[in-house]
This record gives sequence, C-alpha cells and structure tokens, in this order.
Amino acid sequence: MEEQDIRQTPQNYAIWYEYLQETNPDLVRAVNGLIAKNGKYTEKIGKELYERFFTREKEGRAIQETSRLVQQSMDSMMGDLSRSSADFSSYGEQLHDFATKAGDLSGPELKTFIGEIVNQTNSMSDNTLSLQEGLNSASREIAELKRRLHYVQREAYTDSLTGIGNRKSFDTELSKLVARAQETKSDLCLIMADIDHFKQFNDTHGHTFGDQVIKLVAATISKGLEQGSIAARYGGEEFGVILPDMTMADAVILANDLRSAISAKKLIKRSTKKEVGKVTMSFGVTAYAHPEEPLAFINRADQALYTAKNSGRNCVKRLEPAIS
Ligand code: GH3
Ligand code: MG
Ligand code: MG
Repeated sequence: MEEQDIRQTPQNYAIWYEYLQETNPDLVRAVNGLIAKNGKYTEKIGKELYERFFTREKEGRAIQETSRLVQQSMDSMMGDLSRSSADFSSYGEQLHDFATKAGDLSGPELKTFIGEIVNQTNSMSDNTLSLQEGLNSASREIAELKRRLHYVQREAYTDSLTGIGNRKSFDTELSKLVARAQETKSDLCLIMADIDHFKQFNDTHGHTFGDQVIKLVAATISKGLEQGSIAARYGGEEFGVILPDMTMADAVILANDLRSAISAKKLIKRSTKKEVGKVTMSFGVTAYAHPEEPLAFINRADQALYTAKNSGRNCVKRLEPAIS
C-alpha cells in the first residue's frame, strides 16, 4: 500500500487484504478494472469498492446470522412443544386405561394404580413448567434478535459520517414518496445541493477538515427542515432533500433559507482555533411531474443544480417540469 501511495485507512486495508487473499474474484476483477481505467488507485475508487463489497456484504451477513438464530430458536421451541404434546398424549392414554380398568380392580391394586397416576401427574406438571421456561427464554431471545435486526436495518440506511440518511435511504424514501404522490396527486418537491469548491477544503486543510465541513453542512440542513421532510447524503459532498406536500414556491424559499444558514457558519480549524473562511452551497429545486419515474425527477433537480453552479454558485435555481 505504501508503494502505491494508498492511505492506510481501515477501509483500504479491508480492500487490499481481500484482494491479496484472492478469495473474492469479483473484488479482484473490480480493483484491476478500476485501476486500469483510472491509471492508479484513488480515494474515490477506494470508496466505491468499499461501498460495493463491504458495507452491503457486512449488512447481508448480519441479517443472515440473525435469521439463522431466529430459526434455531424456533426449532428448539417446536422441539419442546412436540415432546410435550407426545407426553400429554401418553398421559391421556394412561388415564383412559385407568378409567376402563378401575371398576375391576381390587383395593391394593387400585392403590398402586392411583399411586402411578399421581406420579405421572407430578411429572407432567414438571414438564409443563420446563416447557413454559423454554418458551419464555425463546421469546426473550426472539425479542433481542428483533432489536438487533432493527439496529442493523437502521445502520444500513444511515450515513456513518453525518448520521443522516445515506444514498440507500434517499432512494428508498424517494420511491415511496413518489408512489404516494402519484396515488394522492399531492405536491412533492426535491432539492439537490452540492458544496461549492469543496475540493479546496480538502486540499488546503486536509481530508479530516473536509469531513468536518460535510458534517456541519448535514447538521445545518437537518436543523432547517420540518418534520416529514427527508435529508440524505446523496454522494460525497452532495445532499438530497425530499419535501412531501410542498409547492415549488415554498421549496425555493426553504432552499434559500438553508443556503443562507450554511453560508452564515464560521469555519474554525480545531488545531489553530483560527477562522478559515466560509462554506457555501449551490441548490437545484424542482417539483414532481405526474407520473414520471424517480430518476427523471432527480435528473431535473440535478440539472437545476448544474445551472446554479454555472451561475456563480451560492445560489438557488429552480427548474419547472415541462408541461405535458
Ligand atoms: P464544485 O463547486 O463544482 O462542486 O467543486 P467541488 O470542488 O466541490 O467538486 P469536485 O467534484 O471537484 O470535488 C469534490 C471532492 O469531494 C472530491 C472528493 O475527493 C471529495 N470528497 C468526496 N467525499 C468526501 C468525503 O467523504 N470526505 C472528504 N473529506 N472529501 C470527500
Ligand atoms: Mg462540490
Ligand atoms: Mg459534487
């Protein structure tokens, strides 16, 4: 990794370890292909590879492991139940036997017989108690597994740097809200926003500082939204905001509020405690046009963002859907 000037991050280690192990031919092919295409291994390639081969796989493994444990717990519960039902039926047969024979039995025989029935009843009662304990512990186990599954799912939809939704969450929420807007013919708007000249922060102050800028922007956007609106990190330093039940005019006002809230922030470098300028963002806004696909909707917001970038940045541009 040193030879190739690759940053020594846990993600890069994971990729190169797997690459050299040659256990995953898809990963080896992807690494070779991307390096051939780009000339060298870059930060962007690393991110792409990690997203593709590790985050999804990890999540898949966690879900698989959880369903295996649920299955195990169910199997043992079913085993307990069927054993107990077999015990009950043999107990029932014995009672039946007793009822038919009881009339013909003499005093001492009857005493022995009743003694046996009492023993059987005691042992049935013990069995029922242990079955109940088994069921209780299985139900506790299943509750814990459900909690873990919920956590894994939430993690799968969260961007680890900023704590807001990630791209997967954006795609899922957008298709849900597009379907809802189609059904109810309600308003739906979309904002795509991208940090201006972000590369300069990385280049001048380092990648960690760049990360802090991304976190600050994400927090400012989240704070500026009403409940029901959804903010997600769409890509590196690009964000998407989905606004259900909002008109284009209101979405433009909101985008401008977010823009000025972000540009009002002072960036202070932790190491020197000095102010190092401002961060600004460009915004593209559009409204949903029935009955288009989510991708067409995103593309139009992106086009508006592109216009904002070309109009000097730190501004909001809107693009009306074509009238059909
Ligand atoms: P523009 O105003 O046109 O958007 O210029 P820009 O510099 O913001 O855009 P460009 O696409 O040239 O650069 C984006 C940079 O963001 C490149 C990439 O290395 C960096 N980047 C992407 N994701 C992250 C991240 O998670 N952390 C940090 N620190 N940098 C990132
Ligand atoms: Mg940018
Ligand atoms: Mg960008």
